[in-house]
Order: sequence, then C-alpha cells, then structure tokens
Amino acid sequence: MRAAALRSTVRVGVRQISQHRRARNMVHVRAQSTTDERRYPERMHHAARAVQLVSKLCRSIQSSLTTSEQVSKSDDSPVTVADFAAQAVIAYVLAKEVPEVGLVAEENAAEMRLDAGADLRARVTAVVNETLSGLIDAPLSEVEVMDAIDRGTSDGGASGAFWILDPIDGTKGFINGRQYAIALALMEDGEVTGGVLGCPNMPSEKIPRGATEIPTASPGCLFVAYKGCGTTASALDVRSPLEDGVKVTTMKVKNASEATYMESWGDSVVAAHGFTNALSDAMGMTSPPVRIDSMAKYAALARGDTNMYLRFPPKTYREKVWDHAAGAIVVQEAGGVITDGSGKPLDFSKGRFLDIDIGIVATSTPELHAKLLETIAQVAQQQQ
Ligand code: AMP
Ligand code: MG
Repeated sequence: MRAAALRSTVRVGVRQISQHRRARNMVHVRAQSTTDERRYPERMHHAARAVQLVSKLCRSIQSSLTTSEQVSKSDDSPVTVADFAAQAVIAYVLAKEVPEVGLVAEENAAEMRLDAGADLRARVTAVVNETLSGLIDAPLSEVEVMDAIDRGTSDGGASGAFWILDPIDGTKGFINGRQYAIALALMEDGEVTGGVLGCPNMPSEKIPRGATEIPTASPGCLFVAYKGCGTTASALDVRSPLEDGVKVTTMKVKNASEATYMESWGDSVVAAHGFTNALSDAMGMTSPPVRIDSMAKYAALARGDTNMYLRFPPKTYREKVWDHAAGAIVVQEAGGVITDGSGKPLDFSKGRFLDIDIGIVATSTPELHAKLLETIAQVAQQQQ
C-alpha cells in the first residue's frame, strides 16, 4: 500500500512539473514563430533539461574526487556512483516526460541488484534523490532507481524512437579533473535526429590557435542539435538553453594546411598519435594537435574552435553508439561532416555497436573531409 501510494505521489509530482514546463515551452514556441527557422521539438527541451540537471550532479562529485583517494573506476568508487546516478536521473526524468521514447544506455544495474551491491545501491539512490529533490514529492526507492537505470538495457535498432545515453563520457577526464561530457542522442526510425552534449568543464571562450589542451572552466557549456534546426550553444546554467543559447557553426578554412585538429589524450585506447601526426604532416598542417577528453571534442568542432576530430582505435576495438551519436548530430547541424575513416556514414541503427573502417573522422567542411579521406588512404597504404 505504502509503495503504491508513494508511486502515485511521484507520478502526480512529475505531472505537475510537466504541465508547468509545457506551459513555458508554449511561450517559447510562440516567441520563435516569427522566424522561418524550424523549431526544436518538445523532446529536445526535455533532453536539454535532463542533461542540465545531471551536469550539476557530476560537477559536485568531480570536485569531491579531488580530495578522495578512491578515484579508479572500481565497483564502488565515486566515479561509478556518478555514472549510475547520472544514468538513473536522466532515465527517470525522460521516462516521466517522454514515456513513449525508449533508452539505450551504457550502464546497467545487474550487479548492483545483488547482495554484494547493497552499499553501492544505497549510495547511488541517495545521490539520485538529492539531485531530484524539489522535483518529486517523495524519494525514490532503491528498486525504482535500479529500474530507471535498467530502462537503458534495450538493444536499439532501426525502428521506433529511443534515446542513446552515455551518462559520463570520458571517464579519464572526469577522474583527472579534465573534460568530460554527458551525451544524450535521439534516434528516430534508424536515424540520429537529435543530440545534447553537456560539457561541465568547457570554457565559453574558443580554443586559441596553437593551444595543445584546454583549461577547465565553470559553469561549462551545453550544446543542443536537432535535424534541420541547427546547433545551439549556451552556458550550462542558463534557465532555458534553447531560448538563451546562440546558433553555432563550424570554422571554415580555405586550405587544408591551415587546419587544426583534436584527438584523444595518450592514455586513451583510441589514441593513435603516430598515425594522426603522419596525416597532419601529409596535409602540410603546422598547428599542433589539441588533446581533449570525451565528446567535448565534437562540441568544440561544432562551435568552430578547430577544424577536425581524428580518432583511430585499434582494429580489435569496437566503437559504441553512445560514444558518438550525440556528437555526430551536433557537428552535422553546425555544418560539419562525420564518417568513418573510409568515408562511410556512421550507421547507428545496428544496435549497441558501430561497425567502422579505419577510425572515425569529423571535419568542419565537406572540402576538408574529402582532402582528409584522400590523405588517410594514402598514409594507410604507405604504412602497410
Ligand atoms: P576519449 O575521451 O577520446 O579517450 O574517448 C572516450 C571514450 O573512448 C570512452 O567513453 C570509452 O568508451 C573509450 N575508451 C577510451 N579509452 C578506453 C580504454 N582504455 N578502455 C576502454 N574504452 C576506452
Ligand atoms: Mg563514453
């Protein structure tokens, strides 16, 4: 009885928030109707707010990590608590606001449901309730939190609508006080149509030419894209990201030799600095690479900070959809191009993995993309 009453109270609480938010969005829709731009669908407003909410949770846990000894991603480290809690909050909020849209997400609660997972389960539930405090009428139970996380265990595919979530992308950046991202994409009938990237440590200033890394900054940045609507960037703490943000576009370059590129740090399994260096030399580029953790690289490309994101994992590594889906649409809607290293479009409709040839590349223009693909083919052949 008590559980049923609690669930019912939670439902009413979330319904009240939804009604309030819907009313706000209607004002937003009217305000934009004087322009001929396509409007971001309601789903993207919910997605942006869910990512904003979780960014706060992540910022607070990342700052406590600097004083904690437990910084590896082991069973009950703060990092693991943050991953699970972030996924639970986004899954719970979206299930209430947009129940018809499914979820494919990186984490699952299988181990946490066992007796051995009791401590972690309690900690994750406490963080989730703290984050949702004021938005729901009564705290969620451990079972409700585990169920929210396991909404993300579906396989995705080519039909229907579902979100693709990486609750904390760039764990090494998160642990080491560098960049990381909360990445949420929307798939509709086999195509990535929407994306949100929350980058809680990203400076609002563009990366200066010649820089090899970027500092961390507060409050971070939020990027939202939807097919045909463009990519909007805002500070992470604005009241309404899609009303308060600005449209961003990629940076054009006339000659490939003037281009700049981003890549992963050397501690990443997907870094191949020897190969990217050879590509850079072959294209006559003179600027050093900018090294950034996580999908924040896609955000920086969309905003016009640099011209390319190069990523060449070993052949044995299988890319996951949640590591690229949101970034792909954020870049494309800002005018950029993304494919695998042989020029094939990325197909996010095949389940939880992406099948690719010779890495993943994103560029600021189609011309630069063509030049890059040509160079990859040449350099790969020379290195065989
Ligand atoms: P990046 O921040 O560019 O290194 O890319 C981050 C993503 O690459 C992570 O979310 C992981 O999915 C993947 N990744 C990077 N390094 C590793 C690793 N050592 N083992 C497994 N996956 C990794
Ligand atoms: Mg990831």
